[in-house]
Amino acid sequence: MVRTLGDALRWTAIGTQLCERAIADEPGGALAEPSGLPGWTRAHVVAHLDGNARALVNLVTWARTGVETPMYSSMDQRNADIETGAALPGAELRERFAQSGTALANGMAQLSEQAWAADVVTAQGRTVPASEIPWMRAREVMVHAVDLKGGVAFADLPEDFLTALVSDVVARRAALADQPALVLHAGGHRWDIPGADVPAAIEGSLADIAAYACGRARLGPDQPAWL
Ligand code: ZN
Repeated sequence: MVRTLGDALRWTAIGTQLCERAIADEPGGALAEPSGLPGWTRAHVVAHLDGNARALVNLVTWARTGVETPMYSSMDQRNADIETGAALPGAELRERFAQSGTALANGMAQLSEQAWAADVVTAQGRTVPASEIPWMRAREVMVHAVDLKGGVAFADLPEDFLTALVSDVVARRAALADQPALVLHAGGHRWDIPGADVPAAIEGSLADIAAYACGRARLGPDQPAWL
């Protein structure tokens, strides 16, 4: 399955709604509870998603204007902003998340066909067409919706998204050296990660395999978690 720009925009909208649901109408202090990510409260996850939306708005601006606008001024600044955001009152943090998500959606809605094809550079230093921006956002809002521990599970995410997610993680992992060989099986799909040894076969539901590939479940050799 080849994911399209339309798929990624749809998944971004769905993931944003799932995050809103996961943090909606909570008593004060609930965002200070631990998230599914080590060392991060739920508020850290929301602050990170807010910062990510603002960073992606920078890439949208870059694509639209041609003026180089990096996602973050530095990784230190990115991390400092997460700490600052996580310390805000819950209502304010939720409002920031809603506002930056809307700004990103509006910015993407204004991109021309030519702007979508323009090159931008991710925080990891990869040069990608701007049409990758909604996919970068979809991954964040979907996977972190689960990390928010607000009642959203991998099994709640759309199957076509989960398939694209595993394919994306496997493609990245396959480019790395020094890792165990794996064959992942889920719901009629098969993904191969090459490595030195005889591959370990891992089988599960699509949701379980996606959680494993993202480092959110232990079905086999440890997988690095991305944030
Ligand atoms: Zn993240």
